[in-house]
Amino acid sequence: MKITQTPSPNFDARTLPISLLILHYTGMESGEAALARMCDADAKVSAHYMVETDGRIFQLVDEENRAWHAGVSEWAGETNINSASIGIEIVNGGHNVPLEDGSLPPYPDVQINAVIALSKAVMARHGSLTLLGHSDIAPERKDDPGEHFPWAGLAAAGLGAYPSVEDDRRILFTAGERDRGVSILQSGLAHIGYGARVTGIMDARTTAIVTALQRRYRQDQVDGVVDVMTMEIVKALVS
Ligand SMILES: [Zn+2]
Repeated sequence: MKITQTPSPNFDARTLPISLLILHYTGMESGEAALARMCDADAKVSAHYMVETDGRIFQLVDEENRAWHAGVSEWAGETNINSASIGIEIVNGGHNVPLEDGSLPPYPDVQINAVIALSKAVMARHGSLTLLGHSDIAPERKDDPGEHFPWAGLAAAGLGAYPSVEDDRRILFTAGERDRGVSILQSGLAHIGYGARVTGIMDARTTAIVTALQRRYRQDQVDGVVDVMTMEIVKALVS
C-alpha cells in the first residue's frame, strides 16, 4: 500500500491504548483544502490518515501519537477519544457540499477499497479495533461520514457488524415520549457503546443517538423516530 507522508503539527502524546478506529468525511470542497487545513498549526485539527476520492492515502500523524479529530465525544464511557483512537478522514463533501440536486456525493469504489485496505492494515498492527463513525461518538454535533457511507460494504469486507433485521417501520417512540420501553432502548444503546443515559424519556440526546444509529445501520430512513426495525437493530447489536 502506497502512503504519502504529509506531516501535520497537530498532535500530542497518547494517554490510552488504541481501541477504536474512527471514520470521518472531510466535508470540504476538495481533498487539497482538507489536507492544507489539517496541516495548518492554527487550525488545531488533524487525523492520522486522509483517503482521497481516487484512493490515494496520505499520512499526517504517526499512529503512536494522538491526532486531533474527535472533538467532544464519547464511546463506552470514554471521553478522551483522540487518545484511544486512530482517525481516518475520507474526502467527501458530505452534507456541507452536496451535489447540485441536493443529494449527498457518493463515495467512489476505488476510495472505499482504499479505506478498507487501510483499516485492515491498521487493525493488523493494533488488533481488532471497534470501527465507528464520527456521528457515533458525537451524535449531537456530527453527522459524518453520513448516511451515504457504505457501512454494509465495509461489513461485507469484514469490518464492523451490520445486522440484518426485518424491515418493520411501525413506530414505537417519538421525540419527547416517556415510556419504560425508552429506558430499555437507552440501556441497549449504552451497552453498544453510545453515550446514552437512561432517563425513560425520548430526550434530545436519545433522539440524536437514534439518528446516528440509523445513519449507520438503516440508511434509507434517518429520522430519530424509534420504530420496530430500529429497536431490532439495537437488540441485534447488543447480542
Ligand atoms: Zn468528523
